[in-house]
Amino acid sequence: MNYNSTRNSAIKVRSAEAIIKGLSDEGGLFVPESIPKFSASDMKYIGKMNYAERAQLVLKKFLTDFTDDELKSAAQAAYSDNFAVENATQLSQLYPDCYVLELFHGPTCAFKDMALQLLPHLMTISAKKTELAAGKQIAILTATSGDTGKAALEGFKDIENTSVTVFYPEDGVSEMQKRQMTTQEGANVRVCAVRGNFDDCQTGVKEIFTDVELIAQLSAKNMIFSSANSINWGRLVPQIIYYVSAYADLLEAGEIEQGESVNICVPTGNFGNILAAYYAREMGLPIGRLICASNANNVLTDCINTGVYDRNRELILTASPSMDILISSNFERLLYHLSDRDDSVINALFTDLKEKGKYTLPSGIKEKLSELFYGGWCDEAETERTIKKVFDEFGYLTDPHTAVAYKIYDDYKNATGDTSKTIITATASPYKFCAAVHKALGGTPETDEFATARKLEELTKTEMPAPLSRTESLPVRFTDSVEKSEMKRAVSDVASSL
Ligand SMILES: *Cc1c(COP(=O)(O)O)cnc(C)c1O
Repeated sequence: MNYNSTRNSAIKVRSAEAIIKGLSDEGGLFVPESIPKFSASDMKYIGKMNYAERAQLVLKKFLTDFTDDELKSAAQAAYSDNFAVENATQLSQLYPDCYVLELFHGPTCAFKDMALQLLPHLMTISAKKTELAAGKQIAILTATSGDTGKAALEGFKDIENTSVTVFYPEDGVSEMQKRQMTTQEGANVRVCAVRGNFDDCQTGVKEIFTDVELIAQLSAKNMIFSSANSINWGRLVPQIIYYVSAYADLLEAGEIEQGESVNICVPTGNFGNILAAYYAREMGLPIGRLICASNANNVLTDCINTGVYDRNRELILTASPSMDILISSNFERLLYHLSDRDDSVINALFTDLKEKGKYTLPSGIKEKLSELFYGGWCDEAETERTIKKVFDEFGYLTDPHTAVAYKIYDDYKNATGDTSKTIITATASPYKFCAAVHKALGGTPETDEFATARKLEELTKTEMPAPLSRTESLPVRFTDSVEKSEMKRAVSDVASSL
């Protein structure tokens, strides 16, 4: 299987190269040249497999340049014992026909772990297979608005021949997220606060990636830059696994019948998680409607409903910060598929986005989009009310991102009357966002995050996950804070100290 670029269908690379490069040279995203299908026997056996085996089965269909042994060792290393529940994920039923797929039982308590526990292994194997990276150290650089940075640090910590540097906006992440990052363990990790916002961090990292001097400095030390960003195919493909796995579990438990179609509802930011569900559907998994839930940053809702993608609006900071995004990068992959792989359409749309901040979908694509996807959004007050409502009605505690998804699923049912069974993905532990969750339940603010967490534990009779509670007593290792103009120097200093 080869991978094409969304902006140049003539480009063909192996998956190892797509994973090492992250982005194609002309700025497009790598997509598989065809989408492999599940066979009847796959679906028959998958229910009996553990999560690592399920992962191997899905990965093998896409990463055809990897050997069985390589895939097996990567899947085992990622999923055998780094998660707090037996099969890496957990499915809870809220009420008949409505299931929550908990993706936050990994080492950082956010769904990013599902991909970032595996990516480092895919990357080190890929490095051995590509001319570009063979024998080299991979220096991962990441800008984060909170969850990705910590998950990348945990994923890459102490992985041979890699190092990871994370930049986060000093005042732009929750107290818990900051604590998680500054106490990070591992010999090959570094965390640095930036006196600026997330965009400043991201722009700084992009500049470092293309800085000729720095690249040469790294090259002299036999190192190359790479990214753990969510546009990397190596982050997307692991996300397909949990949809297949959840379907298999429902089937095994007798909750659904063979071939029965289920809807998937996803709290969406960069469009990676929901796109993975689209790929699972294209592989033949019986998925009905894909329900795309947004917070007040409702660019995608508008696009699904009107066919116009318009980023010309203020970014609104919400209690679900991982969805505070105006450009959902992975949406480009979906449009490429819906255009029947027409790179000229994609180039035209994304030139418009760059020049005018918006584009209008051709009518054929718009129709397919709104047939497959339902888009909805809710504001901050509705998010809060939903956290309370779901807790009061079902005794189930949701984080703000998952609450947004629940609300939009309710709206979807009211709007369409569709009562098919539905899986809502739960993307973070409520304890990552204790202040917002505690407030939604009527609690009054405490002075620090851990005091709030203890109040939340008392109030809800739930427990803060161990990976979060243990950060309270861990020593802070990283206190650096730089101006955005100093990010390059910070990376250069690390490179020269190696
Ligand atoms: C990253 C993230 C999202 C958004 O996922 P995308 O794949 O970017 O759409 C939603 N919720 C949480 C908690 C996240 O960390």
